[in-house]
Amino acid sequence: MSEEFHLGLDDIDSPRGGCTTHFASILVERLSEWDIEWIDYPNLIRLNPNIPYRTRGNGAVALRFRASPELAQDVIDLVVKMIPEYVERGYPNTNPGVALLTGNPPDRVQQLSEIALWRVLSLKVIKRSIEELGLWHYTLGNGRGLIGALSAIGNRLVGDHTYEYIAYRQLASSSESRGVDPDSVLEMDRVMGDRTFSNVDPDEGTILIEPHGPDPVLYGIRGDHPRDLIEAAGMIKTKQEIEQWTIFRTNQGTGQHLLHRVRIGDLRPYMSAVVHGTVTVPGRMIEGGHLIFTIQDETGSIECAVYEPTGEFRRITSMLVLGDEVDLFAGVRPASRTHGMTLNIEGMRVTALATKQRFENPICPKCGKRMKSAGHGKGFKCPKCGHRERKGEKIVIREERSLDLGVYLPPPRAQRHLTRPYSRLDRVNLRPAWPPSTEWHGHVKKS
Ligand SMILES: [Zn+2]
Repeated sequence: MSEEFHLGLDDIDSPRGGCTTHFASILVERLSEWDIEWIDYPNLIRLNPNIPYRTRGNGAVALRFRASPELAQDVIDLVVKMIPEYVERGYPNTNPGVALLTGNPPDRVQQLSEIALWRVLSLKVIKRSIEELGLWHYTLGNGRGLIGALSAIGNRLVGDHTYEYIAYRQLASSSESRGVDPDSVLEMDRVMGDRTFSNVDPDEGTILIEPHGPDPVLYGIRGDHPRDLIEAAGMIKTKQEIEQWTIFRTNQGTGQHLLHRVRIGDLRPYMSAVVHGTVTVPGRMIEGGHLIFTIQDETGSIECAVYEPTGEFRRITSMLVLGDEVDLFAGVRPASRTHGMTLNIEGMRVTALATKQRFENPICPKCGKRMKSAGHGKGFKCPKCGHRERKGEKIVIREERSLDLGVYLPPPRAQRHLTRPYSRLDRVNLRPAWPPSTEWHGHVKKS
């Protein structure tokens, strides 16, 4: 008799740069040799990116499978043995959390996972739920990883989703150069078109599939279907060898953190939200090359920051004028000693453009020269022929707006994992490719 199990994992980092997805990939290889039946790809769940301690953008993972209850106990034993070895006990910057749920995740867990996408969940709330549900769980350090572990279990990716093919190198060689050949990535990007996304930054021509830190990820390719990712990975040339690879089903590129519209007066620190407002103070540059502008709605006003590394996006937001209406895709930065609560802008939709106008003095009807003011309330006087227009008025010139309605995003290099890229703005991937039509994980056996 087999049962359904959902194993959530988060914050499993090692001093050599190991990360939760890498640990999950190793675990998948081990468990695949056992008598278990996978019921989904490993799910890589990105949580609210505006939570301050999630600095690495490290995703939580859920493994979902059917097995006998006895085998589930063996899974627990294996995880408990593997984690301390992986994180090297005593490493201070990691707070692993693992939870195991039997059967279909209950509504409450799903609700918690929805909150985890756009608000702050406390460890206390999560621990209480885990205890009330009687879930087996395991932690090291302060156990903060339980938040992601339970949130990943509850997010079944029932709506839009994407996939990421992640190739890993040996952890032992994770401080050396990966040697990902940029030309092979550019060629892959050209061949794949819109079937993959965020491979290359179009402005700078740099490749984005290769991380820069000393971690075991060799590269990651994102797209809407596993078979496309396998095709794409086949085109990538690297100096270092792939040790193992896994295809994750994810909420990356879906905008799943921005499903809530929040009025300015209801914003709270670290929220991710869509905020609609009217521009009341257009953009001005501050130190560091960041742009600040102000919007308001019927509940209040708030300053909005667009950061220097967003390049072209910052230039576009600088074109907003008084009266423009926007939906801002934003994270809420709490107030500090020097500034009030601020929106960090990660994208926007311009919904209405104000008329931009300027005023000019009239042209002299006699000689065609532009007239000058004759003093307050005295009309205009021509500097060339001396003609006066006592009742003359300034002419209104409507300026052409170079900004269009629509969605604007920072370049891919500055986007969040969760950001819905241009190529996916109108795309919804609803049917999971399960059972898989291709291999979805593998380990290169050493001879
Ligand atoms: Zn004149």
